[in-house]
Amino acid sequence: MQDRYGRIIEYMRVSVTDRCNLRCVYCMPREGVPGVAHSDILTFDEIERVCRIGTTLGITRIKLTGGEPLVRRNLPDLAGRLTAVPGIDQVTLTTNGTLLKDNINALVSGGMKYINISIDTLDKERYREITRGGSLEDALDGLRAALSFPELTVKINCVPLEGQRAEEWIRLASIARGSRVEVRFIEMMPVGLGRQFSGQTQEKVLSVLREKFGEPERYQGRLGNGPAVYVHFPGFCGRIGFISAVSHRFCGSCNRIRLTSTGCLKPCLQYGGGADLRGLMRQGGGDDEIREAMYKTIYNKPAGHHFEEQNIREDEEGKFEMKEMSRIGG
Ligand code: SAM
Ligand code: SF4
Repeated sequence: MQDRYGRIIEYMRVSVTDRCNLRCVYCMPREGVPGVAHSDILTFDEIERVCRIGTTLGITRIKLTGGEPLVRRNLPDLAGRLTAVPGIDQVTLTTNGTLLKDNINALVSGGMKYINISIDTLDKERYREITRGGSLEDALDGLRAALSFPELTVKINCVPLEGQRAEEWIRLASIARGSRVEVRFIEMMPVGLGRQFSGQTQEKVLSVLREKFGEPERYQGRLGNGPAVYVHFPGFCGRIGFISAVSHRFCGSCNRIRLTSTGCLKPCLQYGGGADLRGLMRQGGGDDEIREAMYKTIYNKPAGHHFEEQNIREDEEGKFEMKEMSRIGG
């Protein structure tokens, strides 16, 4: 469906858990996020129901995310169930990859065709620092497992941090030289803990890569669900992408909404509030009632974020999302 600004909303990011087995410094507090009771998290039946109703409003693509989606037990079953919902054309997964090796067979046999793996550096020690204790080898095992399925589209997501050595971006980008992987650099967003960190602009990363790999061609086609712009370096198998929500604002073409693990439908990453679909479902709400709540949320999606306003005005406190990225389906 279209929102009130005429944008077509067709893509829903579904967070299946707030929990994560890593503690990336810009995403998750060292001590983890406050525990949410299992009973407060949407069940697979409830998630499937929201997705099914979403299809009647034009939602055709679902991204499973978190927290770390693979810490949720039987996640591949959910992925398979959503893939089978009539009207859903695509179910994708964003994961840190560390639990992927053990889940890949079940995911692929359930119909999963697209997986994004977040790896910010290929330096073992830096990886451990950024993730506060994570094992790069586990993430790379996940990447290798995914690449062993030729039918899977695999992307790597990296949030380049200020102070990171340029060599780290070159190493990550080099993966796209030798294999059919898209490597994407995502600009740090001032959401949750991200407010305390500075990222790197796409121009900076691109200039480093250009110096190393030569002049890239701009890729004009569309790849995936989002706002990434892609370039193609000479001799590379995969493309390099940039997603820069702050410096290259793309709100005018935003196509997404978000369902949190506790069943709140959020129209924009930066705004607090949203529709309490869990409450509606658990009070016995019918499909029409839930559809109406989804319709209103989508229709009233804000025109855009205000990330550039670092200092929120007093009268706007409460309007903006203050939770960590891992709790809002980043
Ligand atoms: N755990 C999974 C993962 O790491 O891919 C899925 C959830 S994670 C919140 C999704 C993506 O959001 C990751 O690629 C992560 O790097 C990114 N992310 C987290 N905080 C961010 C921030 N403040 N700005 C930009 N990207 C962020
Ligand atoms: Fe976990 Fe993903 Fe957040 Fe890292 S970015 S702490 S892996 S949810």
